[in-house]
Formats: sequence, C-alpha cells, structure tokens
Amino acid sequence: MKFSEINLPSNILEKLDEMGYEEMTPIQEITYPIISAGQDLCAIAETGSGKTAACAIPLVQKMDPTLNAIQGLVVVPTRELCMQYVGEIQKIAANTPITPFAVYGGFDKEIELAKLRHGVHILVATPGRLIDFLYNGQISLSQVKCAILDEADELLKVGFLEDIEFILSCILHKHQTLLFSATMPEDIKKLTHDCLRDPQHISLVTKRAAPESIEHYFSYLHPKYKQTELIKYLEEENVEQVIIFCNARHKVDTLFRTIRQDFKDVEYIHAGLNQGKRTSIFMQFRKGKIHYLIASDVAGRGLDFSHVSHVVNWDFPEGRDRYTHRTGRAGRMGKKGKAFTFVTKHDLPNLRELIDRKQITPSWIGKDPLLESREPQKKKAQKSRRRFRPHSNKVNKKAE
Ligand code: AMP
Repeated sequence: MKFSEINLPSNILEKLDEMGYEEMTPIQEITYPIISAGQDLCAIAETGSGKTAACAIPLVQKMDPTLNAIQGLVVVPTRELCMQYVGEIQKIAANTPITPFAVYGGFDKEIELAKLRHGVHILVATPGRLIDFLYNGQISLSQVKCAILDEADELLKVGFLEDIEFILSCILHKHQTLLFSATMPEDIKKLTHDCLRDPQHISLVTKRAAPESIEHYFSYLHPKYKQTELIKYLEEENVEQVIIFCNARHKVDTLFRTIRQDFKDVEYIHAGLNQGKRTSIFMQFRKGKIHYLIASDVAGRGLDFSHVSHVVNWDFPEGRDRYTHRTGRAGRMGKKGKAFTFVTKHDLPNLRELIDRKQITPSWIGKDPLLESREPQKKKAQKSRRRFRPHSNKVNKKAE
C-alpha cells in the first residue's frame, strides 16, 4: 500500500515523498491502523524493516501542536539509537509545528533543559537521563498520550527493567503504549503484559536469525589464527562498510590497534568513549566516511547503517539474540549482506544452539565442526587421511 492511500495530512505526506518513502513497508502497513486507533501494541519485526517510521508517522499525527507539553515519549536503550530515532521523527515532522527532541546521558543537561523548557512535543530518551529529569521534577509526563519502548526486550531486561517500571509509573493516566522489537524471548514476553492494556500482538519475523537477505558464513579456527584470517577476509571481500563486533571493550581496543596497521579508515566505538567521540564516530560511519568499525554491542541494536555490507563477529555473540541484532546491521531494507563469524572450540555448544534455533543455513569457510561431531566415525577416517595431505583443506587451521 502507498502512503498516499492512507489518510495522512499533506505536510507529512509531502515530506515522506521527499524522503523517498512511497510504499509502506509491511510493518508500517499493519501497525498504522492499530496505532492510529489508539490501541496498545507489541510488535516484533525484523531489524531494518522500517519500524521507526511505523511508529513515528502516526505519533507525529497524534500530537496536538497547540498543547505545549510532552505528548509522545520514546524510550530507547542506547544513546546512538536515541539520536537516530529523533532524527527520523525530525525528518517526518519537518513541515509540521511538532517539536521532537532527544535527551541522553553524556550530553550537557543544561542545554537539554533549556530546550525542554522551550517546549517539546515528542521526547526521545535513554532511561538514565530521563529518570534524572523526572527525579528532579524537571519534566512532566502528565500529558503523554503515547509511550513507546523501542528495542523493548532490551529495556525489559534486568538492569533496565526497574528504570522502565519507574518511568511508566510516572504516567498514571490512561495512555497508549507501544512495544517494538526485533526479538522477544519468552521470559521477557511475559513482562510485556504488565506494560500493556488489551494489546494487539504482531509478529513479522520468521524464526530466521536475521533478514533473509543475509548470507551466514562461519570459520572454525584456533583464536591465534583470527587476525590473519580477518585481514584476508576483508581484503578478499568487496566490502562497502563493515562492523566487526567484539564481546568486550578491551577487545575492541586491542583489535583496533591491530587492524589499524593494515587498513586506513578504521574506527572503534564502545561505551567507554566519551559521548562527543561516540557521536562523531556514529555520524561519520552513517555518512560512509569510515569503512571499518570495530564495535562492542553498543552498536548491535537497531542502528540503521544503510551501507553496511558485512558484519564480522570477531567474538562469538553471547546470548542467542545478539547474533540477530549484530547481523541485522547488514542487509537493511532487503539489501544483500554477509555475516562472518569466528568460531572457536569453546563456542561449539552455543553455535549448535544458534544454528538450530535460528534456522541458519551456515556456509563454512574451511571445515564444519558440527559435521565432524555429527559424523564422528566418518570424520575420524577423513582426519587420519588428511594427516598425510595437510593442504587438502581450503583453510587448513587447527581448531582450539
Ligand atoms: P528502521 O527499521 O526503522 O531502522 O528503518 C530501516 C531503513 O528503512 C531506514 O533507512 C529508513 O529510512 C528506511 N525506510 C523506512 N520506511 C521506509 C519506506 N516506507 N520506504 C523506504 N524506506 C524506508
């Protein structure tokens, strides 16, 4: 369905046209009538499917420009998502009198407060900074009509859950609540009942790990071969932009120092950087000025980098859904993308679970360790034959 076929005011429709949004994506088409009707919603849709605009368009439409108060509240787990989300709302609302604004940790509070005092209709926020303002009575949510939790499963996890409960407890009056996510584990799903009133549930994801436009490559090797293998991979592949994910900040730092020797426009991002640096790297990467980004999972969720052709898991992702979120940074809006994951012996139990649960069809660069464990007899025989022909395998590495 086209945006021109739904009842959008011309100041939004014209803007969408300028943005090149003509056809609604499936999540937009399904959720638009539900959100417009004021119903609560729990929507699970593939990453990169147009979830932000699915929320932002009806949200802008709902706002009353004559009421100088926060009427729309969007809570997101990371600062970068906050910037991205508010950016999309700003574009959609550009020809309207609606003012969207974002508040997030690491940014100057006084500047944020000045803007808030001036009047904001839609507030996008990370939980910590929002709570800060709420505790100090510097903002009121008494006029909120619609509250949105983006990347809801992350926000309902231990660590964020108490914050979210507190934020929602500040909106005592009747309002609409929308939860959006790319993944929703069963244990978290139960918690959504506490936030929602008679909700509609929409799921547009298959059991697959990431958008179907992504090819999933894996390499089983000893950790000491990772560096050589990564450099070889990046040199051989036709990389437009790549994000290389590590499981810890110090690993990001170490890998950055190493990779920098072989590639020029490499940068890194993790929560240990100051906010100014984080924002600058995020923006440069979005604009395509950086080609290689080494990142912790701070860049793993929801961020829309439309030129990312490859995602590399330097470390095997911890937790089942992390693979989905990380690899979802490539293959946005149906574009082709490749995921390449290093697997060491230590990762094998998690690998097996990932492949089964997410129904991935893995392509192995070198040997498939699962095949070996499934067919021990056959493999043993092959292995003993290979001993005399060490170069028979394409990537002949000894696993950990
Ligand atoms: P999201 O899933 O919200 O991160 O969106 C993924 C990408 O799709 C973003 O680059 C959006 O600008 C783009 N997008 C969202 N909706 C549409 C649409 N209806 N037509 C074309 N592009 C879209």
